[in-house]
Amino acid sequence: MLETFGQNLREVLGPLAEWARHCYAQLIGPNERHDWLWLVSALIATDLLYRFWNRPKLEAFWSYAAPWRIYSHPSAVLDYKFIFVDRLVMLFVVGPMLVSALALGNWGSKLLAAWLGPGPAWTPSLTALIIFGAVRLLLFDLGHYIGHYILHKVPFFWEFHKVHHSAEVLTPVTAYRVHPVEEILVSVFQGPLQALGIAGFYYLYGADQTLMTFVGMNAVIVPYFLIGSLTHSHVWISFGPALEHIFISPAQHQVHHSTAPQHLDTNLAQYFSLFDWIGGTLYIPKGQETLDFGLSEGVDSELKTVWSLYWVPLKRAFGLLLGSYTPLTNAPGSETAKSVGA
Ligand SMILES: [Zn+2]
Ligand SMILES: [Zn+2]
Repeated sequence: MLETFGQNLREVLGPLAEWARHCYAQLIGPNERHDWLWLVSALIATDLLYRFWNRPKLEAFWSYAAPWRIYSHPSAVLDYKFIFVDRLVMLFVVGPMLVSALALGNWGSKLLAAWLGPGPAWTPSLTALIIFGAVRLLLFDLGHYIGHYILHKVPFFWEFHKVHHSAEVLTPVTAYRVHPVEEILVSVFQGPLQALGIAGFYYLYGADQTLMTFVGMNAVIVPYFLIGSLTHSHVWISFGPALEHIFISPAQHQVHHSTAPQHLDTNLAQYFSLFDWIGGTLYIPKGQETLDFGLSEGVDSELKTVWSLYWVPLKRAFGLLLGSYTPLTNAPGSETAKSVGA
């Protein structure tokens, strides 16, 4: 009797718990791009840096780490509202539309087995796991670079990417200010590219191998987190000219958000500025530069509400195709947002 009750309870609660776990993972749980750890580690990193450089009092730390004028700015407030809606949109609407690297990789490993015969099923050493993690991260970032390049250079897609660049102040929450069309476009490149690495790994080591992760993230990027969390922030961290040819520093991404003409369309990679160097989009800061964030021609008066961040890009992008919307110039990244007949 008690056993049957326990079994029934498990049958009811099991799927519920699984659903709750799934929601947690999608809404606030970790993945490579959006992670609550970004927020926590941003504060920890800022704290460590500030202690290291300034040996502060606690109040001074808070005014340094989270200046009220930045975190209460209307642009930051819009980010806070957007993130709640966006997590739900990602969970229920866009998530299933993203190209899954794991599913593709799994399929690819089966294809390899069909062509070459069964894989050797080796047991991966720590070195092999680290190399695989690094290769996967490189492929992930190459996909990001290609997608980001298209978002900047193709006027249709730039309309969607303006959502991210319309932020007038940068906080760690700004990383989430991304239109769903941008998420889908980037996954079209990131998914298959990562899948190449995953398919090879699964073929050699077996698909039941756990990929090297730390709380759901590619373990290789964990050390990057303390610094990377300050990418969207007012804290200037440069790695110096030599390293900034290989790894993107927070300062370089802040330059990417700058409205100055010399900064437009530069530093498109997420982790490896190597791709910018190869692709001719690298910008190395000349010392600490003073930056204004946002769109180059000033504030876009139409991108001011959560609804408008979703709707206006769709209206403009398709208006561009149909000839009912004309940006002031044809150069993506430098035109004023202006709707005709909107
Ligand atoms: Zn951009
Ligand atoms: Zn950004």
